Amino acid sequence: MQDFRNVKVVLVNTSHPGNIGASARAMKNMGLENLTLVEPEKFPSGVAVGRAASAVDILESAIVVNSLESAVAECGLVIAASARSRRIPWPMLTPEQCASKIISEKDTNRVALVFGREDSGLNNDELQLCNYHVQIPTNEIYSSLNLAAAVMVICYELHKAGLNKAALTALDQKEFWDQEKATVKQVESFYEHLERVLIMIGFHDPENPRQLMHRIRRLFGRIRIDMMELNILRGILTNVEKKIEDKQD
Ligand code: SAH
Repeated sequence: MQDFRNVKVVLVNTSHPGNIGASARAMKNMGLENLTLVEPEKFPSGVAVGRAASAVDILESAIVVNSLESAVAECGLVIAASARSRRIPWPMLTPEQCASKIISEKDTNRVALVFGREDSGLNNDELQLCNYHVQIPTNEIYSSLNLAAAVMVICYELHKAGLNKAALTALDQKEFWDQEKATVKQVESFYEHLERVLIMIGFHDPENPRQLMHRIRRLFGRIRIDMMELNILRGILTNVEKKIEDKQD
């Protein structure tokens, strides 16, 4: 059995407590235990407990937070489950690719699997916090699964990949890297710093932002920058700021 303690399921703004309970049950069936709820409409709830059956322990230890950003702040790999493809495409994974990525990274990174609202899924800001999107292939004319069913499919693939010999071999040959990946919190403050400097040098106009910051987020999300690289870029930005300030004096 794999150790999924570094992997959490995050449910954003869930409206039906029954879906929270059914998601907890799916998680426990597949060996996951960490559930984070971002602003659930009704929690704790007897309906959730009923639907969780023997997974009530997961509801009891669930963490409730008020933003997706705080839910994933300490994570180095964040994957959003999304039924829809977006105007600007984002790096996409199949459920199988998502599972093998998590298996090979979970021992060195905290990982979050993010699921959206029943009625409207995840908004663009939330999707852009994530390194990858995972889409469950479906009937083309009806692609939206029930929330807990989507949690089940993704967690099942993860469980299966954990059992799968090939995945275990991949685990043995875990990619070696000398630095830890930057966390969401660190990358978010880098984006703020970068945006400030881009405005300062007149490259970015917040009145007419186009898709600049969106594309920059996608670029860095794809690269999965490590802490050392992030510190180098922060240092460069700080020096640019200093030079400009010196000139203004
Ligand atoms: N109507 C919403 C779908 C909400 S379903 C929309 O169009 O976005 C609730 C959540 O379940 C979604 O936010 C997503 O996290 C997950 N989900 C549902 N169907 C999925 C699919 N085919 N692939 C990946 N995730 C899916």
